This record gives sequence, structure tokens and C-alpha cells, in this order.
Amino acid sequence: MPDQELLRKYARLAVQTGVNVQEGQLLVISCPVTHSEFAHLCMEEAYRCKAGEVWMNWTDEDADRINLLYGEESDLKNVPEYQLARVREAQQRKAAFLHIMSPVPGIMAGTDEAKSGRILKSRRNAMAVYRAYTMASQGQWCILALPNARWACQVFPEEKDPGTAEKKLWEAILRTVYVNAETDPLQTWKEHSAAIRRHCDLLDQKHFRALHFHNALGTDLTVGLAPDHLWGGGEEKASLIGCLFNPNLPTEEVFTTPDRMHVDGIVYASRPLLYEGHRIENFSVAFQDGKAVSCHAGTGEEFLKQILAADENSDRLGEVALISYDTPISQMKTLFLDTLFDENASCHLAFGASYPGQIRGGTKMSEEELKEHGGNVSQIHVDFMFGTADLAADGIHEDGSSEPVFRDGRFIF
Ligand code: ZN
Ligand code: ZN
Repeated sequence: MPDQELLRKYARLAVQTGVNVQEGQLLVISCPVTHSEFAHLCMEEAYRCKAGEVWMNWTDEDADRINLLYGEESDLKNVPEYQLARVREAQQRKAAFLHIMSPVPGIMAGTDEAKSGRILKSRRNAMAVYRAYTMASQGQWCILALPNARWACQVFPEEKDPGTAEKKLWEAILRTVYVNAETDPLQTWKEHSAAIRRHCDLLDQKHFRALHFHNALGTDLTVGLAPDHLWGGGEEKASLIGCLFNPNLPTEEVFTTPDRMHVDGIVYASRPLLYEGHRIENFSVAFQDGKAVSCHAGTGEEFLKQILAADENSDRLGEVALISYDTPISQMKTLFLDTLFDENASCHLAFGASYPGQIRGGTKMSEEELKEHGGNVSQIHVDFMFGTADLAADGIHEDGSSEPVFRDGRFIF
């Protein structure tokens, strides 16, 4: 574990830059039982920022696994009333939510996948009414991660000692969130957020009709953008509270909505795609009029085909995201086996649903209206990386003229 000084910096970042807890506000912290020390630091930081009260919600993936193995499906499908009441009260009190996670990739292996799917779906439905609070950013929320030895051993398989692997993962995670001994992470994040905002504003002003990508790997793809697309990334504003917060630590991307009917050419993935525990590698997908018309993968082609066939729109794009090749996550070349990190490693596209907030007026549109505006509606949203050190991107204007946006994997402005 890093020294107290670094841990405290990370906790301060979570509480101030992440959820940005306000004076008198209730803060709800979810945290794995194995990381109580870090949660306690976050509590102290919250009270230092004059939070009103802090509720702890201890989580335990191993306990979830044991329940899944031995518990009755009919019982596990229900979210107990006391848990719903807790969320209801927290939201009525306009709480901020800090989610500390420490995932163990593959922990549910060997359990009944179908049973687990039914339980998750039923629990998701029970919680659906409470999801808008965070998904539509009514209140502040933030997700961040802490390492554990079982996760670390999968990220660094060459490391035989679990303790050493965990130490390496600690170092890697702290690097992704700009926490180090020398600098003040709060200040770094101020500058980081301003840089992300600047790129969003510039791209919104340019209002490109399409982006054209190409590189030596073989990518030659034109991604049309929804006519009323908006660029997003970094900080968000909590509508009920009025303050800014950072939903993800780390975050590097600026992203927007492709036009679901206008994607043409071929894209080659630059990193493996992890889907439901399966690894899809060395793959390419060809598009015509927005639709994936063929695909090929060195490994896991059948899972790639499963994604494209998940529903009627899962073979169209819902997101295009730009990330410079010189960000810390990109430079590390580490596959974290978790989306929070891996989606920030390089430029990516996503099959499936688009984000309504990334179309002007989109959060008030019906699914049909969203589609008419170029957005995509699907049950899935699966990101895959295609950015490389030599990636070039050009923005295409309404009149067909173009200008460079990316050269050598980086923004040129
Ligand atoms: Zn993204
Ligand atoms: Zn995405």
C-alpha cells in the first residue's frame, strides 16, 4: 500500500474533485470491506469539507459470490425494502454518492451464469427508478478504483509474487489519476478538466459533419456525426445541486454521437476487447451506411459476432471518443481488465447505444426521435479501442472541406 500521504491525496481527490461534496450535504460511500482504511480517510476528508453526514455502504464481492452459489434465486432476485428505503432517503436528501470499487475480474467464474443474469436483471429493474439521479446527473456521483492482489495478478501475469503485483497496480492506478508525491492532484485536475473542456468547446464550434480516421494498421473509416451532436467529457454539473463534479477518476476522453446511418470504411482494433469475460483480439470491422457489414478477429470472432447480433441496432455505433496517445494510461500499455481504465487508453468507438446527453435536446427525446437525430438505441454499449501512435483524424465540414484534428495520435489543437 502507498504511504499515508499519497492515500490521503487520493482520498482528497475523491471527495473534492470527484464528488465535490457540499457544505451540509449527505455523502454515501460504497466501499469494499477490504478497503476500510481508505474509506475512513474519505470520511475524514468529507467532514473537513463540512459534509453534513457520511453513510457507509460496505460491499463484498466474495459474499455476493457465495450468495449466488448457495442462495435461493427467488430470494436473491429481490432488493430488500430496507435497502430501497436507504437509497430513497439519500436521494430525497440530495446526497452525493462515492463508489469505491476493487474489482476481481472473473470472480463469478464457475457460478450459474443464467441464474446470475436473471438475478442481476431483476435487481436492476427494482433499482431503475433510482438510477436517473446519477445517470442524468441530478446529484453528484463518482467512481474510482483501488487494487487488490487477485486483480493485480491478472494485470501483471509475469509477476509471481501477489504482493509485488498489487504494489505495481497501486502505482499504475495512482499514475492514471495524477496522484504523486510531488504535486497537488487537485490543482492538476483543475488544469486537466480545463484542457478537456477546451477540446469539447473547440470541437463544438467546428461542428464537423464527419471525422475521417486512418493509420498504418489499416483503419480507413469515415464516422459521420449526428447533426445536433455535442461533445462531452470530464466534469459534469449536478442539476439539483448546481455544482460541478467528476463522475470518473480517471478520465481522458472527449466523446460524441456518431450518425447511426453514416459510418463507412474499415476500422482495426488496437487493443483487445474484453466482453463478458471473453477476449476478442486482432479484429477489424467494416461498415457501410452506418451498419457493420463484416468482421474478422484473430481470437474470439464468435463473441464479436454475438455483440453485433445482440439486438437490431447493436451493429451500429453509439459513441466516438478522442484520446491523445500521450496520456498516462495510454503510455503505460497496461491492460487493466476494467473499463474505467481501459476505455481511457486510446481513441475508441462503441457498438450500441448512444448517450442522449450528447445530442442537443436529446435527454428530452423519445427513442424514435433520438434515432431521427442520428442517435442509436440499443440494450448494449460496448467500447473498443482503435487509437495508435500514428493515428490521423480529419474533421470534415458541411461544405466537404476538411482540416486536421489528430496527427501522430494526438490533438493538433
Ligand atoms: Zn467513451
Ligand atoms: Zn463508451
